[in-house]
Amino acid sequence: MNNSGNLKLSTYISEADLQKKVKELGETLTKKFKGQEVVAVCVLKGSFVFYSDLIRHMDTDIQCEFFGVSSYHGNTTSSGEVKVTLDLGSPVEGKHVILVEDIVDTGLTMNYLKSAILSRKPKTLTTIALLEKPEALKVPCELDYVGFKIPNDFVVGYGLDYQGYYRNLPYIAQVQNFN
Ligand code: 5GP
Repeated sequence: MNNSGNLKLSTYISEADLQKKVKELGETLTKKFKGQEVVAVCVLKGSFVFYSDLIRHMDTDIQCEFFGVSSYHGNTTSSGEVKVTLDLGSPVEGKHVILVEDIVDTGLTMNYLKSAILSRKPKTLTTIALLEKPEALKVPCELDYVGFKIPNDFVVGYGLDYQGYYRNLPYIAQVQNFN
């Protein structure tokens, strides 16, 4: 048993609802970028599940890139500090970039990522997040596409972790008691 064994989970967004939404988002991005080449940037670690489902609903030429950042350091509130753990593997200058985030909480990470990508002079930058917590925003953060707006609750699953666990849940859950 790992150290997540004593926590209770309740379903927050079901697997069926997630899959329906991700398909819709993929189809919307397909319409926007049909016939064009895009670089889809997966923000590690939390976005990898959403990202891998999303790109498979996008019918256009995609290059996959990965940007590793860490902002929580295992706690349930944002530290506000963004540490780069893995940089993009190739230049995005002059390219259509889609930045794929798991969740926007305070907005600090997304704002950091946007300026990091914009400084590399992409042709366009499109931002998408599966989840957004509008009540938790500490800085203005405009997103082009959002899957679900949720209250200020700490959630796990579908790529999102609590102390490294739960990323493999196929649905989004709320952790009910932290010990
Ligand atoms: P922000 O900088 O917007 O406060 O936080 C963004 C990052 O914090 C996300 O990419 C995610 O890794 C983490 N985060 C924010 N809210 C949650 C949450 O409810 N659950 C989990 N597991 N991570 C979260």
